[in-house]
Amino acid sequence: MEDNNKKVITRFAPSPTGVLHIGGLRTMLFNYLYARQKGGEFILRIEDTDKERSKKEFEDSIVAAIKLVGVTYDKFFRQSERTNIYREYLKKLVDSNNAYVSKEVPKEEGDRDEVIRFKNPNKKIKIDDLILGPVEMGTTDLGDFVIAKDMESPLYHMAVVVDDFEMGVTHVIRGQEHLANTPRQILIQEALGFYRPAYAHIPLILAPDKTKLSKRHGAVNVVDYLAQGYLPEAIVNFIATMGWSAQSGKSGTNEEIFSLKDLVKKFDLGNVQKGAAIFNIEKLDWLNREYIKKLSDYEYIKTAHNYLPEGIKSLRDYSDEKFHKVAMTVKDRISKFCEITHLSEAGELQYYFEQPTYEKSLLKNTSFLPEIISLIDKIEDKDFTQKKVKETIWDFATEKGRGEVLWPMRVALSGKEKSPDPFTLAEILGKAETIKRLKFAIEK
Ligand code: GLU
Repeated sequence: MEDNNKKVITRFAPSPTGVLHIGGLRTMLFNYLYARQKGGEFILRIEDTDKERSKKEFEDSIVAAIKLVGVTYDKFFRQSERTNIYREYLKKLVDSNNAYVSKEVPKEEGDRDEVIRFKNPNKKIKIDDLILGPVEMGTTDLGDFVIAKDMESPLYHMAVVVDDFEMGVTHVIRGQEHLANTPRQILIQEALGFYRPAYAHIPLILAPDKTKLSKRHGAVNVVDYLAQGYLPEAIVNFIATMGWSAQSGKSGTNEEIFSLKDLVKKFDLGNVQKGAAIFNIEKLDWLNREYIKKLSDYEYIKTAHNYLPEGIKSLRDYSDEKFHKVAMTVKDRISKFCEITHLSEAGELQYYFEQPTYEKSLLKNTSFLPEIISLIDKIEDKDFTQKKVKETIWDFATEKGRGEVLWPMRVALSGKEKSPDPFTLAEILGKAETIKRLKFAIEK
């Protein structure tokens, strides 16, 4: 039975055998949100009992990713530092005849000739999963499973059960791939006389083609998303709401935008869908665009700057101030910051910082350019804004035909078939450079 007065304690228990991936982030977030919501405790536990595969660099990278998305934990443990505790419980199991040292016939070189096996009572295990509902699983097929290589080297199931008990974990929230592990862990729990925590197994995340999300579908690691210029807030919003939605009481519509704080308030384990969640990158892009729009211009530009290739910065007319204006022209359009890099690589930014080259024929008709020059020449340097340039040329362009006048002007400034409008370009380039480029086009 669940004791409602008991302080909620959850844990995220990654094995440091790789960096944090999308599925791990979701498990981490669900544990964090649930604990915070209930005023409980959230533990980070590094499960590094596998000495060969565990690496400190992976642990560091997991911890860094957790911090980057704004999550804090209350306690930190490393299983490799808890051997004494596991030994004590292993001994208990052996002494109480629930486990035994088993002589093995080594199958391969390097195999042990002795391991510790759990004496399987062969019973059915029934759990009331908070997401999946009642689940019943047999244990006979598991045989007397191995729980430790020796008294100093517990395996995963043993360490998890001891830790969850010792740390007072009340809710085990983890990926559905662990459901099959649960009966073994409950058998060990029962043999040691431990309480049983509540279980919540989170459905898998699948790619849009309904297969397991993997590298061939794109990035699966959290750091890769961050590197592409997805904002931590957007990633959190996206991952936490994958396979879960807040049922808004009044209007009945589902909300989409949640800060970590909102999520702490609204998250509901009972609303996590039973079926697999589908990883929908378009939704992430959309969310990220919304979060980019919300950034202050200062924050936006600071980040955008990090995505500008060095090559651009060494162009003759480059200045940070100019780049700020250029970046602002795409603030509403980009869905991740690496698009700034892509735009630059596709030659869509160079022309702001150096005279573009282009085919003469792209200009079409240059006969109105002299009149444009004489009109805008009257604008004072300090007033040379998009708005002012537009006002100054507008009547003339309307009289002669807007396309006829504005197309060559725009091409003269950008050298491109497609670009922002000529007024925006003129403001960014400044009066002198604008006139210089218009003259260059006439001479062509
Ligand atoms: N260490 C396990 C893993 O990284 C998680 C164990 C658990 O959550 O019980 O998959």
